[in-house]
Amino acid sequence: MATLDQLNFQNSFYQLGTDFYTEVEVRPLQNPHLVSANPAAAKLIDLDIAALTSNDFLQVLSGNQTLNGSQPLSMVYAGHQFGGYSPKLGDGRGLLLGEVVSQQYGKWDLHLKGAGLTPYSRFGDGYAVLRSSIREYLGSEAIAGLGIATTRALCVIGSESPVRRETMETAATLLRLSKSHVRFGHFEYFHHTGRTDAVKQLADYVIEQHHPDLVNDGNKYLHFFERAVTATAQLIAQWQACGFAHGVMNTDNMSIIGETLDYGPFAFLDDFDVGFICNHSDDQGRYAFNKQPGIGLWNLTALAQALTSLISVDDLKAGLAYYESELYVSFNQLMFEKIGLINTDQSDPTLLDDLLTLLHEQRSDYTCFFRRLCDVNATISSEWFSDLFADHNVIDPWLKQYQQYIQQQNLNDADRQAAMKQRNPKYILRNYLAQRAIEKAQQKQDFTEVDTLLKLVQSPFDEHPGFEDYAKPAPGWGKQLEISCSS
Ligand code: AMP
Ligand code: MG
Repeated sequence: MATLDQLNFQNSFYQLGTDFYTEVEVRPLQNPHLVSANPAAAKLIDLDIAALTSNDFLQVLSGNQTLNGSQPLSMVYAGHQFGGYSPKLGDGRGLLLGEVVSQQYGKWDLHLKGAGLTPYSRFGDGYAVLRSSIREYLGSEAIAGLGIATTRALCVIGSESPVRRETMETAATLLRLSKSHVRFGHFEYFHHTGRTDAVKQLADYVIEQHHPDLVNDGNKYLHFFERAVTATAQLIAQWQACGFAHGVMNTDNMSIIGETLDYGPFAFLDDFDVGFICNHSDDQGRYAFNKQPGIGLWNLTALAQALTSLISVDDLKAGLAYYESELYVSFNQLMFEKIGLINTDQSDPTLLDDLLTLLHEQRSDYTCFFRRLCDVNATISSEWFSDLFADHNVIDPWLKQYQQYIQQQNLNDADRQAAMKQRNPKYILRNYLAQRAIEKAQQKQDFTEVDTLLKLVQSPFDEHPGFEDYAKPAPGWGKQLEISCSS
């Protein structure tokens, strides 16, 4: 295990050259303090857990000391934001510090979010506030806890540096880990500025880093694109199955390797409402929960456009055509696993649709319903769900049918129930829980609730005796929270 000074840096993105980034130093924050550090993420980069509580750690991650081996840079990229093209975005407040190679877990980008002004800051100040940093920290670890591809988070550092948003707040940094920070928007930037040489260089780089088996493939660009399509479809299927709304699916927030990236006004659904909009500045509902699958395809089409110098239009169209079926098949499979039935050719296609329609009509708590379903057997009555529906009789017809399938498939109750409990989390990062932790942190400098939530969401399928309150549906006030979208 390494100290902070001994991390094994191999900065491959830096070697692409300055067409792809601008070198920038981290701006120091005043009087930094540790908010929370994540031992699970430290392990991924072979960092000694003792380092997380050291003063050096604090000074480095608040920009007051340089990190040995790092070559900080801000990446340039573009992107479609809410459907309109923004020709120049880039890391406006985050820096890629470098890439660290772990013996066991491979290479990781170390990206410091909230690191100060860069040439891409546009009208922003380059900083991130404490509340949005805590949300990304917990959100990304919650998605990882559910087994879904995502960037990870090593720590949040708070400070006394003032930042103006709707009110005065304080600046914080988040150290994000990822296998790649290349976004769809990277390719768009180079394509739309006529730099097809750079599109090719970047595609070759991503292939070499993430699809080494394709390096000598005669059709490597098409196969790389197909993998982006597949990974995106599978990612969005997983979001839909667990009830996660990203909130800002602009193409600059889409990872080329299909990870959940850039946590802003995201939300895990409390009550199941398919049209749920978590981003209060999304007036048209472009990124509503049930629009995510379609937006994934829209974004991949923008990526395809940016790859037309490498791949024929016919091939790109054929590649895009995989998306819908991949997403549908993945989603169906995930949902069958959630209800603990085997998905066979004879499976009733309406069973899932009927359930989701019912949950939507009743606005039942999505997570609690499925966790409760884990304990159903062939004889339990709908009263088992009485606190999840205004009138539990509404679930009766569906439940009876479900119980028939359980019997038909002749599955062992205990095995089925245990498997279901590995697919239906007991704990999710409910908005109100995150908000409560943030308020404690902001008002009392008390970060215990952040650590508690971290622990729960990192192992969301476990029981965690004594924490049952965190597994309950949100109280009324907690469902109506308007989370500020400024960050
Ligand atoms: P986001 O909506 O967070 O994905 O950000 C979109 C773009 O705005 C990215 O280029 C960000 O780097 C940039 N950005 C967001 N907030 C700030 C800020 N406070 N200062 C500078 N740039 C920012
Ligand atoms: Mg972004």
